[in-house]
Amino acid sequence: MLIIMRTQLYINGQWVDGASKVAVYDPSDNSVIAEVSLASISQCEDAISAADAAAVAWAKSAPRVRSEILRKAFEIMTSELEAIATLISRENGKAMPDARGEAAYAAEFFRWFAEEAVRTPGDFRKSPSGDKRILVTHQPIGLSILITPWNFPAGMATRKIGPAVAAGCTMILKPATETPLTAMYIVDIMERAGLPKGVLNLVLPEKTGPAISMMLHDPRVKNLSFTGSTEVGRVLLKEAADNVIRCSMELGGNAQVIICDDADLAVTIPQLLLAKMRNGGAACTAANRIYVQRPIADKFISELTKSMSAFVMGRGTDTSTTLGASVSMKERNKIAQIVDESVAAGAKVHLGAKLPDGDGAFYPATVLGVEKDNPILNHEIFGPVAPVVIFDTDEEAIALANDTDFGLISYVFSSSLGRAIHIAEAMESGMVAINKGVISDPAAPFGGVKQSGLGREGGFDGIHEFLQTKYIGVEIL
Ligand code: NAD
Repeated sequence: MLIIMRTQLYINGQWVDGASKVAVYDPSDNSVIAEVSLASISQCEDAISAADAAAVAWAKSAPRVRSEILRKAFEIMTSELEAIATLISRENGKAMPDARGEAAYAAEFFRWFAEEAVRTPGDFRKSPSGDKRILVTHQPIGLSILITPWNFPAGMATRKIGPAVAAGCTMILKPATETPLTAMYIVDIMERAGLPKGVLNLVLPEKTGPAISMMLHDPRVKNLSFTGSTEVGRVLLKEAADNVIRCSMELGGNAQVIICDDADLAVTIPQLLLAKMRNGGAACTAANRIYVQRPIADKFISELTKSMSAFVMGRGTDTSTTLGASVSMKERNKIAQIVDESVAAGAKVHLGAKLPDGDGAFYPATVLGVEKDNPILNHEIFGPVAPVVIFDTDEEAIALANDTDFGLISYVFSSSLGRAIHIAEAMESGMVAINKGVISDPAAPFGGVKQSGLGREGGFDGIHEFLQTKYIGVEIL
């Protein structure tokens, strides 16, 4: 199996060395996988110039041309799925089943936006007073900065590149420093799919903050699409305010799960395991606060603990592994600290909560019984830790679930659809899953409310993050 290992920057259709290099690590043993190029500020400026020079022609290109490039990228990515999954697993640490799932999910954004590229809606109407015609069209917003996190190095990149290509925008992709190799592979795919030079550029700046600040203050930059923590998102919103740059923000989560006393545990447990353990819990959608109703609480905790204890922790690429490493020792230690604080505050340990020996960034599957004021409920855990709280009434569960600044996704488990929809409608989140552990889908609008973000990716909304609406009023003589 050939794994494409690009390690350079991609500027104006050329793979180029940077000003210096940084190591990318395999978090399962902290060995170096590769050294990748880091861009100087002037190379970041070169990327802006390249994307700007390509912008006019690319915006005018036929939607069908853009659609076929995306379709080709989907086909290449699908045929190289195992290689991409292996690279994701190596640099991110996640288990191969998770990496394969991510690679397939990521490729689907290219297929979905290949289909969307030729379906941009418009409008032609008579004004209510009859004095004119109202013509509404959508145009590419222009040069876009795409910033992605380490937890889904493929999926978060294609979820932005797909709609930007479909809309006719040029781009500069800035992947996470921990996981740039997957992003470089995806850029290589776009090159092979026939994307013209300058349309997509990739930089990994030596100094992230100052480089992105420079970009957001360059008048040629029109749009920022960011996925990452709320903390960094807030900084970037302030930076983007100076030039009033359009922002799409996919930020942190603190997902609530409400398990009602009429939930079918045979459905609930496997689905909850998906919501909690996909990616080893390092997902913005990961079940973070699990509220279970008292009559079924003991049975639920015992079955959850049994299922969680079956996870096999190890190097992501080992065939037996179902729980891989965190991306780095730093991230792993953050999880340990959150759990230790929770236990010190009175959490009951049903499973795990002990650091393993050895060098890898591993944290074991953990189940905690906690009171509703335990500090773990205020953290995005980003690890394989399930804190469980017992509730009595639906009203109490709704109030506890909404008691957070975040609002990305909620999960509801009940055998009564009416009851589940009643709770779903009360959830302060951009997405709600009913009796299901994963609802992310390229064909559905993904995004949060409150401090989980602004805008939506995927679905019919996704392309509009890269389009601006133009109204043309026409006098009919
Ligand atoms: P992060 O915010 O630390 O980093 C995200 C990206 O921003 C990285 O590329 C990083 O290099 C870059 N960055 C960091 N500081 C910057 C600065 N000052 N200026 C510009 N760029 C900067 O997040 P992370 O640790 O990589 O990812 C985990 C976070 O991402 C979690 O909070 C998770 O919930 C969130 N996330 C959200 C979604 C979503 O769709 N809502 C999806 C995946 C991850």
